[in-house]
Amino acid sequence: MVMGNNIEMDVKKLLTPLVKMKNANISMSVKFGEAEEEEDWEPMGPTPKPKVPTLRHWDFKLLERYPPFYMPICDLCCLCTFGKCDLSRGKKGACGLNIKAQQARIVLIACCIGTACHTGHSRHLVHHLIEKLGKDYPINLGNEIEVEAPITRTVMGIRPKTLGDLEKILDYCEEQITHLLSAAHTGQEGDYLDFESKAFHAGMIDDLAREVGDIAQIVAYNMPKGDEDAPLIELGFGCIDKSKPVILCIGHNVVPGSYILEYLEENNMEDDVEVCGICCTAIDISRVSDKAKIVGPLSRQLMFVRSGVADVVVVDEQCIRTDILEEVLKTGAVLIATNEKMCLGLEDVSHLSEDEIIGYLLRNRAALILDEEKVGKVAVEVAKIVAKERKDRKTLPDLNEVVELAKQCTECGWCNRNCPNAFKVKEAMTLAKQGNFDGFVDLYKKCYSCGRCETICPRNLPIVSMTTKVGEAYYKDLKFKIRAGRGPIKDVEIRSVGAPIVFGDIPGVVALVGCSNHPNGEEEVALIAKEFLERKYIVVTSGCAAMSIAMWKDKDGKTLYEKYPGEFRAGGLVNCGSCLSNCHITGAAIKIANIFAKVPLRGNYAEVADYILNKVGAVGVAWGAMSQKAAAIATGVNRWGIPVIVGPHGAKYRRLYLSNGEKFKVKDKKTGEILEIDPVPEHLIVTAENVKECICMIPKLCMRPNDNPKGRANKIYHYVDLYEKYFGKMPPDLEKFVRTEKDIPFMMKDKIMAYLEEKGWKPLEKYPQDPTILY
Ligand code: SF4
Ligand code: SF4
Ligand code: SF4
Repeated sequence: MVMGNNIEMDVKKLLTPLVKMKNANISMSVKFGEAEEEEDWEPMGPTPKPKVPTLRHWDFKLLERYPPFYMPICDLCCLCTFGKCDLSRGKKGACGLNIKAQQARIVLIACCIGTACHTGHSRHLVHHLIEKLGKDYPINLGNEIEVEAPITRTVMGIRPKTLGDLEKILDYCEEQITHLLSAAHTGQEGDYLDFESKAFHAGMIDDLAREVGDIAQIVAYNMPKGDEDAPLIELGFGCIDKSKPVILCIGHNVVPGSYILEYLEENNMEDDVEVCGICCTAIDISRVSDKAKIVGPLSRQLMFVRSGVADVVVVDEQCIRTDILEEVLKTGAVLIATNEKMCLGLEDVSHLSEDEIIGYLLRNRAALILDEEKVGKVAVEVAKIVAKERKDRKTLPDLNEVVELAKQCTECGWCNRNCPNAFKVKEAMTLAKQGNFDGFVDLYKKCYSCGRCETICPRNLPIVSMTTKVGEAYYKDLKFKIRAGRGPIKDVEIRSVGAPIVFGDIPGVVALVGCSNHPNGEEEVALIAKEFLERKYIVVTSGCAAMSIAMWKDKDGKTLYEKYPGEFRAGGLVNCGSCLSNCHITGAAIKIANIFAKVPLRGNYAEVADYILNKVGAVGVAWGAMSQKAAAIATGVNRWGIPVIVGPHGAKYRRLYLSNGEKFKVKDKKTGEILEIDPVPEHLIVTAENVKECICMIPKLCMRPNDNPKGRANKIYHYVDLYEKYFGKMPPDLEKFVRTEKDIPFMMKDKIMAYLEEKGWKPLEKYPQDPTILY
């Protein structure tokens, strides 16, 4: 029975431990869209539309195996005026909170911010697209994608058919975020594990909201629908034709950029104006049109803006420098803000006519326009005018001026001390005084243009501009190829890789996501991708990581996208799209459970996650400092049973999920026995101190209890081979992952046996044929 949009069922059943409800076969109808529809595609599972505590039992299973490890950066709490409270050395706050729960609360708050961000973004998209196309606009991803929304099916228990259905999913997301955030208020939740369970819930909602947003934009803008041959498009500073007017879009929301492309197309001006982007908007506009160009990832934002190449900068939402207005105005360009979340103190001119706005912008150089359709014409027409002035504008010092500026440096060293990575800015200055730019060239390769060195410099030296100028001079041909974001993985691809992944013949799926705003981040992400592509892993990527991978070329001048196919198969390099499109990576793991193993998805979260944890050898890597969105993504991925490796900066979120390395317990569904097994996957979220450590962790975290001996031997081969390659020795914990002699790769038998003997290794008597932690 259905009442409106609510599923009417015994709520107590939802709160019953999963051990009791996992076999429940509840059939129900769900009202979504305008008409009540009898859904008969799959019996309803036990947890449709889970509330905050519904999956607590599953969360506690994970947290028992992977207890949170906290690294407090600050042991004060300043969240309310009852305090601030010193929580160090066992002291409690005035509200009774201890440091552990406070750390967990901070993680929850971060995840809620990230989830709200993606949900707000998806709401904006869906709302806009419904206004434009109507609630009944169909969701159709083509015949090759029948499982159109695996996250939605599993979490919500529905198959979304229209944009109107997506709106209802967002209602649910927003309700959950409100409850989750309210738990962070003074005098509410007091237990760290329950804070963690709530953070997991926020992460899952984040996954769901991203799936809604990406599906909405794929269908509405006719973006590639699982297209493994999505076009190779241009990326990099050097691909922008500066002789044309240039519009630079920054952020994550495709709507304003799509109107710019539409206006150009309607007026036959596609070849007259350059439209390019930074961050996820760049990826998404290039999914709308192959004429759009990607300048690069977030990590280079300030350098790109400082270069002065843009005539008009259009910002939408997320991951934009908050001082963007000041930076854009310094270059002489015009700034258009387009989103209610980022108004920058600007005059809202949305009510004016397009021609009036153009006049306003030419006089005032910046404005807020909340009508994205108007942005299309305004941005283009303003860019055409401003471009004429650009030849007279100079935004960077020339190389002689860099030398003169360097001579003003007192070598006080504050820049080095304030750089998050302790880069050698002072030393670059010292060399540049003699006209030697080697230090700046080195800086250009590593620096992610945060600008902290500049802010602290007592001589006000424009360090980022100096670095950008030297970089421009020494790296003239910054032109690369990336494959446009293809969207979801096709069902047929899942069918062909399901068995090899589940049994371990494909050694793993490596998902490279996030900002890569790490010293040398671009090069390192490409290095990780290359290493695992050569070893026939499936490498999946999205967002700024996808761009970073493109910014490395082999000796023939080819990027990895030109060398490897875009299919979801061994040795494939799959660019799903923007950060919203991360959902398709989780979606692929869910589809393996469903399409290959026939695990029902509908409202069946814990069983699907349990399958992924035990059988799908996938690992996520977020190589850079983490935003709140990245925290939400990683935590959401963890709840599905997928481990994540973060860079050293990731530790600043203060919580990891680490096992104590002891043997794990699972139930073998075949025999009903509870067995002690090898500790795989070893951790749920863990930091790597450097790229070598990260590379060596990946094969280990792709191991699963379900690996068959041949598959495990394959994974162990890569683990040992990589460890020897990067550290010149056998992995120091190898004995933990060899269950029996059959797990030892033939080619390494002698040396591994010798190693194991030295370690006093004993084979496991039994290991499970069908492992589960749901018992
Ligand atoms: S929330 Fe609690 S611990 Fe934090 S400042 Fe207020 S009283 Fe102190
Ligand atoms: S802070 Fe400025 S003056 Fe001091 S060493 Fe760095 S660049 Fe030179
Ligand atoms: S801009 Fe570059 S060199 Fe300066 S503080 Fe940031 S990362 Fe360090």
